[in-house]
Amino acid sequence: MEFENTIGLETHVQLKTKTKMFCSCLLKTGCEPNTNICPVCLGYPGALPAINKEAVKLTVMSGMMLGCEINRHATFDRKNYFYPDMAKDYQISQNTNPLCIGGGVTIQTPGGPKTVRINHIHLEEDAAKINHYASSSGVDFNRGGTPLMEIVSEPDIASADEAIAYLTALKEMLVYAGVSDCNLEEGNMRSDVNISIRPAGSDRLGTKVEIKNMNTFKGIHAALEYEAARQRRCAANSIPVVQETRRWDGEAMETSSMRSKENAHDYRYFPEPDLVPVELSEDQLEEWRKLLPEKPEARRERMKAQYGITEYDADVLSQEKERADYFEKAAAKAENPKLLCNFFMSDVMSWFNANGFASGTEEPLAALFNLSTGGKINGPTLKELLGEVLSGEIADPAKTVEERGLGAVSDTAALEEFVDRAIAANPGPVQDFKNGKKAAAGFFVGQVMKLSKGKADPKTVGGIVARKLAAL
Ligand SMILES: [Zn+2]
Repeated sequence: MEFENTIGLETHVQLKTKTKMFCSCLLKTGCEPNTNICPVCLGYPGALPAINKEAVKLTVMSGMMLGCEINRHATFDRKNYFYPDMAKDYQISQNTNPLCIGGGVTIQTPGGPKTVRINHIHLEEDAAKINHYASSSGVDFNRGGTPLMEIVSEPDIASADEAIAYLTALKEMLVYAGVSDCNLEEGNMRSDVNISIRPAGSDRLGTKVEIKNMNTFKGIHAALEYEAARQRRCAANSIPVVQETRRWDGEAMETSSMRSKENAHDYRYFPEPDLVPVELSEDQLEEWRKLLPEKPEARRERMKAQYGITEYDADVLSQEKERADYFEKAAAKAENPKLLCNFFMSDVMSWFNANGFASGTEEPLAALFNLSTGGKINGPTLKELLGEVLSGEIADPAKTVEERGLGAVSDTAALEEFVDRAIAANPGPVQDFKNGKKAAAGFFVGQVMKLSKGKADPKTVGGIVARKLAAL
């Protein structure tokens, strides 16, 4: 029998706020354990939580980016559970009235674009971190109370590849909106993945297995592939799939049973009595809507049309907002943005890769590039000065070119004379050329570049050399 996968993701995203979800403790990484704590995030009796407005704003902005309906009367609930990482023995979350409802993420699949629907986005607090040592364990409450937004997808995802496409698109959008760093290594973005299989074409969902707390795309991909195959093996051998939480072992590359899955009623949700509902006015939503950036996909399309660049280039440029912003600032000052794009994709990007991103150098870069497209400097000079421009050492490339005498020799008469001199001085290579060794032409271009002290344009020289050699 043919089976198909149904995969849903619950993605926890750490919001980029200065302080915790329900208290004013700072959110900082790399601090001594249990230094950013207070009675609220330690769950002392009588301590009262207060909602972090910035976290609400970032969640609403995320919802707007993902096309969700914003719930103007959101409430918080208590989710009861008893692990040492939650001192209160309950987590404040949203169950009945989450902040965002519906929406979706469009992904590209081999079969064309596909929208993965979002069920809802809710806001909650993170648990503390349990550290295990050789003979003991400790709880670090610095992380406890971190604002987390949980984005719950519908089970619309059909493969491990689609899951990664969904997460990649999601991450791109959230980073664009400045909602989160989505730094996977630091655990800023973690996913619980649900997967079940069903006979192809069926509309009933199979028994699902959940794999919790996955924080690498590679791990998620591998775990989904493994589970899809395991559940098929179960079906082939008439072994029922058990509804449970499984653990992914990245070394053994397999999942193993962890515990039977809690049902929602195990958490005994009830309205959080210590918090008032979040009432959002239309004016407030409008104010936040104005802060939204252009969506990556819309930006790609606009950049393609505006600068006449390829799909691939627009895609690479817009993958990171910082990079797209940089390019667009430079392109605004460039005489030929399309040519600038070619140069950017090759030389500028490789400089960034080697030396780091260089914000603030957009205008000098455009000025340098304009000298090149205007024929004021040649290609080698452009490359020679690029590093100094990007590292901020050259602010006015035209001035540097003048001071160092790097202006291109564009006087054709002078170039013709250099070519004549090179040919006259090198009878050997001339003979080679006449004997059919066409590569000898390159030798003369090199000679002329030397005579011009590197200031001639190699392409122009190449043309003159070819013409003169052919006439011999
Ligand atoms: Zn606190």
